[in-house]
Amino acid sequence: MSTLKIAGGRIIDPRNRADDVVGDVWIQDGRIVAPPTDADARADRTIDARGCIVMPGGVDVHSHVAGSKVNAARIMRPEERRGEDRVMRRWRDFRSGTIGSVPSSFTTGYLYAGLGYTTAVDAAIPPLGARQAHAEFADVPLIDKAMLVLMGNNHLILDAVRERDPERVRRTVAWLLDSAKGFGVKAVNPGGVEQWKLGGSRIAQWDDCVDHFEVTPRDVVVALADAVDTLGLPHPLHFHGLNLGLPGNWEQTLEGMQALDGRRVHMAHIQFHSYGGTPDRPADFGSEVGPLAGYVNAHEGITVDVGQVMFGETTSMTADGPTGHYLANLLGRKWYNHDVEQEDGCGVSPIVYEDRNFIHALQWAIGLEWFLRVDDPWKVAMSTDHPNGASFRAYPDVVALLMSKNLRDEVMARLPEKVRSRTSLGDLSREYTLREIAVVTRAGPARILGLDRKGHLGPGADGDVTIYMPDDDRRRMFAFPRWVVKGGEIIVEVGELRSAPGGVTLFTELDVSPESRRELSARLAEGASFHPANFGLRFDDLASPTPVARVGARP
Ligand SMILES: [Zn+2]
Repeated sequence: MSTLKIAGGRIIDPRNRADDVVGDVWIQDGRIVAPPTDADARADRTIDARGCIVMPGGVDVHSHVAGSKVNAARIMRPEERRGEDRVMRRWRDFRSGTIGSVPSSFTTGYLYAGLGYTTAVDAAIPPLGARQAHAEFADVPLIDKAMLVLMGNNHLILDAVRERDPERVRRTVAWLLDSAKGFGVKAVNPGGVEQWKLGGSRIAQWDDCVDHFEVTPRDVVVALADAVDTLGLPHPLHFHGLNLGLPGNWEQTLEGMQALDGRRVHMAHIQFHSYGGTPDRPADFGSEVGPLAGYVNAHEGITVDVGQVMFGETTSMTADGPTGHYLANLLGRKWYNHDVEQEDGCGVSPIVYEDRNFIHALQWAIGLEWFLRVDDPWKVAMSTDHPNGASFRAYPDVVALLMSKNLRDEVMARLPEKVRSRTSLGDLSREYTLREIAVVTRAGPARILGLDRKGHLGPGADGDVTIYMPDDDRRRMFAFPRWVVKGGEIIVEVGELRSAPGGVTLFTELDVSPESRRELSARLAEGASFHPANFGLRFDDLASPTPVARVGARP
């Protein structure tokens, strides 16, 4: 039994209603426990946190850190990974690696932990890519990992939706999730990726028909959201909508929210789905956050992460193949496309967001508008859709912008004049408090994910804690935590990594009946180029498999 006491810090723990309350946090054997009643009780180790801000470890609800498209991006960007400041050399027991917009596996863990993040969810893994993604998770130390499994263009799902058989959709979702040892369900441009792979006409509206399957995006997304809810998965359907990144897409975004009304849904990187204007007239581009945030404010069961754009060079990567194609043509940069048999695809291309570029400047403003126009911070999670809007390493910069209207105005002043009339950002005087920052970076994402042991400091929570030195320079404060504790172990001290324990893989445990497995394997075999016996993972394919929920899928 080992104990750690974090003594005398200013605790900000929104889930347990602690807002700057001076007190102690006790961790025993990796979990937070109530402080001992004996006032003289001593811990094995004590951190003197007097004067410091104590928060739960950060939780990233939407990121891309493993799997085939992440590796395609790593291979594609050698130019980004040269130079002393782009390389982490081997030191003490730590591994070497490269940085850039898509850091290598070990470096990803080191960098997240260095920012005080202790959990990250990869938002887009196809079932067939799960084996490799889990192998990579095993090489990403320090943070706990989970994956969302792509299902919106999966042939077995599309077949079940065409048959109007909710029971079969539910069984297929359970079987796919179990086979991938995933945590939750993701739908990306449902039906639209499949259509693009086959060379059909673009899916742009909710009632456009997907050739060969005779289903619409509306059919698919409603069926998946219903299946996720019927199964009782911890996290709602994680949804990437139609027309990502296209001017005028806000109308389909609103229609999607309405189509799912009454169901739980998490809308991913909502910034990229909130644009006014028309695709053929870029000059009309503008923000339509107003009506969308208004809808989120007025409805329960709907949450968003932002996908904040920050200026600089990064790599776009999406399971939305048609969007990857569109972007590559638009930017004229090198690009990579990948189809996943019967399941999905992806597109990858480098991108530079420039503050003198009207569209990029508006994207930056639209993301911030989302943070500032959703009234309840529990409904909006911090994300840059790493690395799409920016690297997760930009989170401290985003925090600083949310906490200072002056800082936002300073940036606005150097953007193209026209931007000011196309966004309400300049009129928004709201400044986030430290409590609100704690909500959008840890407590909220943990609640959105349904991770009961994350994002808070109450008894039973994982012993993941970040301790910051208060600093008026909020960027510096959040970029260099004084201590980071993972599972009760001090992993960062005085801003330096001390150790690198592995972290666990969080997944949802499902009861899938043998009949169900046989039936779905037989269906897979009908069209697959591989033997179904090679599909599906076992626990020993995962690094420290840790179920976070057990869900009954039944027959
Ligand atoms: Zn994403």
